[in-house]
Amino acid sequence: MHDKSQLIQEAIKASKLAYAPYSKYFVGAALLTKSGKIFTGCNVENASYGLCICAERIAVFNAVSNGERGLSSIAVVTADGGSSCGACRQVMYEFNPQLSIIIANFKGEIVLETTALDLLPHPFGLDGHLTNF
Ligand SMILES: [Zn+2]
Repeated sequence: MHDKSQLIQEAIKASKLAYAPYSKYFVGAALLTKSGKIFTGCNVENASYGLCICAERIAVFNAVSNGERGLSSIAVVTADGGSSCGACRQVMYEFNPQLSIIIANFKGEIVLETTALDLLPHPFGLDGHLTNF
C-alpha cells in the first residue's frame, strides 16, 4: 500500500542523489506503477547544459525500461515545490493522461495535485495516447 506521503518521502530520498552542480536545484521523483512498484529519479546535469535531464523523465524511463508502462501517480519534490517542465509533461502524458501528479516541497507539503492532461492541455500525441501497446 502506497499513500501520497510515502511517495513524497521516496521522492525526497531520490532528490538527495541528484547531480546538480550547476543549478544547485535538486529534484526528486517517485513514480508509482499500477502494479504497485515505485521507480525513482533525480535530475542529472552535465557541463554541456543541453544534456541535463529531469528527475521526472528519469523516473518514467526507469519504470518503462523495467517493463512497467502502467503509470499511476508520481510525486515530484523540490525545495520550492516547482512544477514540471514542458518536456516532462509530454513524457508523463505519453503513458497516462490521467497520471496523478503530486508536486511537493522538501518539507513534504503538497503544493499542487493535478493530472498529466491538466498540466499539458492540447497535448501532442497519437489521437490521445496509446493505451494498449
Ligand atoms: Zn522536466
